[in-house]
Amino acid sequence: MSDYVTGGEYMAPARIHADRTARTLDIEWPDGHRTRYGFEELRWLCPCAFCRGEAGQPGWLDSAPTLTEAQVTLSDIALVGQYALAPTWADGHHTGYYTFALLRDACPCPVDTARRAATAHAGHPGP
Ligand SMILES: [Zn+2]
Ligand SMILES: [Zn+2]
Repeated sequence: MSDYVTGGEYMAPARIHADRTARTLDIEWPDGHRTRYGFEELRWLCPCAFCRGEAGQPGWLDSAPTLTEAQVTLSDIALVGQYALAPTWADGHHTGYYTFALLRDACPCPVDTARRAATAHAGHPGP
């Protein structure tokens, strides 16, 4: 496990590339780590209040909806300041600000999947 993750020091990605043909978003981090999300995977991570819910209310994604083609098609992606990415989906949804910390923490690669499992087993979510 690298200090990059354990220290909670999430830096801005060195490179971001959305491939509309492969339907993947590639992020390269300053420590050399690479994160790849499929568009659908990324859509399910949407952190906005509508998708995730707020004030104890479940969000739209909590109802396990069947996502349409448009809902999992990335049409644009913008940087929000120096801390987040804001994708615009083909259905017009654009309220999700994916912080770099979220994008790195939810990285679907085997290394990060194992890290999350280990954290869960340890019984505490970190500092
Ligand atoms: Zn959302
Ligand atoms: Zn990873």
